[in-house]
Amino acid sequence: MTTFDKFRKYVITEFVGDLPPLVVERAEGATITDSSGKSYVDAFAGIAVCNAGHGNPEVLAAAHAQLDRLVHCGTYLYPNAPAADLAELLAKIAPGRLRKSFFGSSGAEANETAIRLAKQFTDRTEFIALYGSFHGRSLATLSVSGLSNRKRRGGPYMPGVAFAPAPYCYRCALGLKPKGCGLACAEAIEEIVRCATSGAVAAFIVEPVQGEGGIIVPPKGYLRAVKDVLDRHGILLIVDEVQTGFARTGWMFAVEPEGIVPDIMTLGKGIANGLPLSAMVTRPEIAAAFKPGDHLSTFGGNPVCCAAALAAINFYRREKIAELSRRKGAWLLCELRRRLKGKKSVGDIRGRGLMVGVELVKDKSKTPAPELAKKVQARCRERGVLVGIGGTFGNVIRIQPPLVISDDQLAKVGDVLCRSMT
Ligand code: PMP
Repeated sequence: MTTFDKFRKYVITEFVGDLPPLVVERAEGATITDSSGKSYVDAFAGIAVCNAGHGNPEVLAAAHAQLDRLVHCGTYLYPNAPAADLAELLAKIAPGRLRKSFFGSSGAEANETAIRLAKQFTDRTEFIALYGSFHGRSLATLSVSGLSNRKRRGGPYMPGVAFAPAPYCYRCALGLKPKGCGLACAEAIEEIVRCATSGAVAAFIVEPVQGEGGIIVPPKGYLRAVKDVLDRHGILLIVDEVQTGFARTGWMFAVEPEGIVPDIMTLGKGIANGLPLSAMVTRPEIAAAFKPGDHLSTFGGNPVCCAAALAAINFYRREKIAELSRRKGAWLLCELRRRLKGKKSVGDIRGRGLMVGVELVKDKSKTPAPELAKKVQARCRERGVLVGIGGTFGNVIRIQPPLVISDDQLAKVGDVLCRSMT
């Protein structure tokens, strides 16, 4: 039996539908090689994870060295150096007074922790989240996710969650145009607190740029305006940087240029460049709301993952990967806008850093074209480029490569994508 057939037969893949006929054998930098020896430019980085490049030598060396010393002892049973050093480094680079970290193994776990802690700190139980948001596949994190295609047949969900319109200017839920809208979607949160909640909201959870929702980049000042509303009601701000963190958007953290400091920040994906690790970072006084017995994670803060994360973050900082991401992302946006200008099937091209989305439509009335997105993805794959898909309608091509992708490789991504559009 081929690996592909064996995988299909014994791994539960029913939830992914058709799998691409591709068995990954190895990867290096922004190149993935399949079992037939064919290589691809990876423009999705394992869902925006391998920011420092596949097989980054520094990350591998740190993980290898730690593997030989200690794999697991239960980070919350006995302290270990990699977890302590990583928490110290996160305290140094996180905004404001976010100084204490909890470590988990997945983005969902970090967000679950944030939801639980926000309840305990505020003594409130309600939440507000955005249309189109995605925060994980566990029950609480799906409850605060605003994507019905991810929530289908999984309910009932956690009560006490209200949703606010996303800053999705191409399809403004309030029917406004970006110029002169007065950030009405941020202001709407005031009315949502008043009319759709009991008023006792623990936290508002938000991605600085929505990833799964289709690379939704908010207009300038959006998060600042949201924070002002939250402050009036004593509502905590949880910023989910699981996908945007670690230089993805051209900043170490996407909130940095927004002029706000979250109360809680969650991290995952790029934190350890592919080893399973996540973190929730908060102020000491908020962390203090946890009492003995309230929380734990068996694998969370695994020493090998923490050692890899330390190496990955040192790499991002030393090599100024955020600036690289900003520069390369700006080039790609320009290139795509130039080459796809006037193309009927291209509704919108948007992004920040190397987090770029191309929204595909059928006509001028913006009818979503999810089938076309799948076709474009398959054509790109045949031509040696791997891209992702997202969006509330599944009609957004996502370009989120390893941030170390070379200029030539990125040019190939742009060229192949444009040629695959028809
Ligand atoms: N938050 C965001 C913003 C994400 O994009 C994701 C995953 N795509 C998650 C949380 C969940 O992360 P994980 O799959 O590691 O649980």
